[in-house]
Amino acid sequence: DHLVNQIAAGEVVERPASVIKELIENSLDAGCARLEIDVEQGGIKRLRVRDDGRGIPRDQLALALARHATSKLTELADLEAVGTLGFRGEALPSIASVSRLTLISRVRPDLESDADTTERAAGDSAWEVAVAIDGRLEGPRPAAHPPGTSVEVRDLFFNTPARRKFLRTEKTEFDHVDQVVRRLALARPDVALELRHNGRVVHQLPAADGRPESVLARLDRLLGSGFAEQSLEIDASAVDLRLHGWVRRPAFSRSQADQQFFYVNGRLIRDRLITHAIRQAFSDFLHQARHPGYVLFLDLPPRLVDVNVHPAKHEVRFRESRQVHDFIQRALQRRLAHGVL
Ligand code: ADP
Ligand code: MG
Repeated sequence: DHLVNQIAAGEVVERPASVIKELIENSLDAGCARLEIDVEQGGIKRLRVRDDGRGIPRDQLALALARHATSKLTELADLEAVGTLGFRGEALPSIASVSRLTLISRVRPDLESDADTTERAAGDSAWEVAVAIDGRLEGPRPAAHPPGTSVEVRDLFFNTPARRKFLRTEKTEFDHVDQVVRRLALARPDVALELRHNGRVVHQLPAADGRPESVLARLDRLLGSGFAEQSLEIDASAVDLRLHGWVRRPAFSRSQADQQFFYVNGRLIRDRLITHAIRQAFSDFLHQARHPGYVLFLDLPPRLVDVNVHPAKHEVRFRESRQVHDFIQRALQRRLAHGVL
């Protein structure tokens, strides 16, 4: 089973950044309001994601590390309508098979069952499990932790030298981590977030309160100041489809490829159809518009989109791709026609 997990890890775990992505997505799925991400040596030596989400009960800690044990699908039919970011139950066991992983959790007080409260009466409220080198579980043993969950991953690929060889320098690996964190931070301004590298604070982002200005403040901090000032808000709806977010004046001199973010149901995707629709919209109004910047969110019923295309989940497949394309193009065109960029 350990070997099966290592093989699965080959698909999901490429580098520290992919570990960070899986861990943050789990925290978001757990309904956290705050995320703390700590990284050492680009994440190769050690990384940790701590959240204040619902937590994992003691008797489910081992299950969280078992293959295909997801708490997020109750029926196979759910695969057709995935609302959470994770659903395969593969990430934690895969990561654990190629690192030294520790999972510490405490159930949020308002969600504690009677059994949990009895445990607590005994003086313990947080529990820790660790995965030993041979894949066996150690624990659960009592630990100190506020409500929520921490996952610590040390020595990534220590037991798979061939994979370890493909890791780049500390700086490059951290750049990838930072990218992943930025993408998720843009998608979830409602979640407070802190990222530290080698003890140094890289991002410290308060939670936005729902007003557009507070969301824009986060965009500015992540994309460079000026984004907010130079951008137009988009909010368009059609039957089953909603597009909202911001587009920025195209840059003529430099590429804004690093300022192009498109999310489908909260998940960042790269899609030729979408890119095409956006370019079309801009090209009709600004002839040199090659590189518009944008942070856009498309929301649609899960049944109209298939996210189950690849484990890394950067791709999607729309049921009605033509309709989605034209909706996006028209929504942007209409806004660009009225806005002053
Ligand atoms: P998936 O996210 O696809 O369900 P994972 O391997 O990533 O699979 O996680 C396995 C399970 O562990 C999740 O379904 C969830 O029940 C639990 N879990 C993992 N991380 C957290 C977290 N930060 N907070 C609460 N539960 C978690
Ligand atoms: Mg997951």
